Amino acid sequence: MRPPDLRQVIEAVYAQEIVRADEAKRHLFEPIGPLEGKVVAATADGTVGLSGWGHERDYPQMTDAVRIRAVEIRHQLEPHPFDDAFDGQYHASHAEKQVAELARDQPIAVSREMCEDCQGYFQRLADYRNTPLIVRDPSKTFIFVPGGVTVTLRHR
Ligand SMILES: [Zn+2]
Repeated sequence: MRPPDLRQVIEAVYAQEIVRADEAKRHLFEPIGPLEGKVVAATADGTVGLSGWGHERDYPQMTDAVRIRAVEIRHQLEPHPFDDAFDGQYHASHAEKQVAELARDQPIAVSREMCEDCQGYFQRLADYRNTPLIVRDPSKTFIFVPGGVTVTLRHR
């Protein structure tokens, strides 16, 4: 008998969280008014965040909280030409990082492909808190398992 594939084991262990990340998708298209290129991230219970560091209508602004969190978990935010107030501001403002500050450890759906900085950040966060974190983007579901293991499931 062949041993089970690690990916299949992880998928079975975190089945419920994967479903929650999938359910979160329905909140991605709720923001009121034109999004003007904003990326949206959400949890299944309807916590929604937008990318960027402006104050968009009623959406909470968590970029500074992400900056502090990055220091806490020892993640070096990747600098970007758009940075204004601090190095790494652009990457600190990504929607999925902001929503992780609003809804701790909840599965998240995001409307754009996760960038490398966010992938590294969520892995550090999972390691630091010793808890799995699940983020679903349009083509993949990432399962950040504590201990430095990221499992990626492509959507069928
Ligand atoms: Zn990102």
